[in-house]
Amino acid sequence: MKTLILLVEDEQPIREMIRFALIREGIDVLEAADVQAARVLIADNKPDLLIVDWMLPDYSGVELVRGLRRDPVNQDIPVIMLTARSKESDKVQGLDAGADDYMTKPVAIRELLARIKALLRRSQGHQDNEQLIVDPLTLDLGSHRLLINHQNVHIGQSEYRLLHFFMSHPDRVYSRSQLLDFVWGQNVYVEERTVDVHILRLRKLLKPFGADQMIQTVRSAGYRFSGQDLSRNTTHG
Ligand code: CA
Repeated sequence: MKTLILLVEDEQPIREMIRFALIREGIDVLEAADVQAARVLIADNKPDLLIVDWMLPDYSGVELVRGLRRDPVNQDIPVIMLTARSKESDKVQGLDAGADDYMTKPVAIRELLARIKALLRRSQGHQDNEQLIVDPLTLDLGSHRLLINHQNVHIGQSEYRLLHFFMSHPDRVYSRSQLLDFVWGQNVYVEERTVDVHILRLRKLLKPFGADQMIQTVRSAGYRFSGQDLSRNTTHG
């Protein structure tokens, strides 16, 4: 599969220079000029790596990285921060926020490419064979596939993320707004009833396998995912 990098930078000439170099390396590139646009692209495309400028027009790149590290679905995406600041304290702050690497501008392209390759080797190495298993469901994180009883089942992007979150956090109740924050990310505007729509779709997909009861409605609280049959304590809605 082709590598996809999201480039978050408001200065167009820098963006173009980096994009050109990445495309020449056979890498697909998405571009965002501010943090809000970046969040939407991350949620929709789950890029393999982010290059994030520190100074952006809406929020700072540091805030984008901090938010990303709290997002259970996308928290492992490697990040390289770019900045015009070269003070050691800035570097520490960038790395503290959760950036994996840090480069000062003007960007040395060959060095940037070397660092990208090093980070991708690291992250792809540990992701390739990772699976989440809650019988009868297997979520294959490398290929983004859902298997039920070893059978491949087509699942939409949002349902995949929701199920990924549930399977990594079983037997706990989450409110709709918590699910929105965790699964769709903070500052992404989605209505709370959107959660219900995706829960409904997820249940529909699990139903033929008798697994829909794993997604439980907890009255006036929210939803819980459970591998055990706890249906006597819950209402299915
Ligand atoms: Ca900038």
